[in-house]
Amino acid sequence: MNAPLEKTLSATALTVTAADLPLHCPPKGVQLWSGHPRVFLDVLKTGEVACPYCGTKYTFSGEKPHGH
Ligand SMILES: [Zn+2]
Repeated sequence: MNAPLEKTLSATALTVTAADLPLHCPPKGVQLWSGHPRVFLDVLKTGEVACPYCGTKYTFSGEKPHGH
């Protein structure tokens, strides 16, 4: 039996590092599961940010890039 095709935009939590900057959602290398336009997110501001479209929560891990 087929379950109803729920396109749930469940809150996913991802950890990103400096290599993922500039951070955008959906992130590169990840399929467009949420199907929303790419949006850039400023994860460095507070160390974590949630995508306003799909609710994916990004947490920055590791060293922040140094501005030089
Ligand atoms: Zn998103």
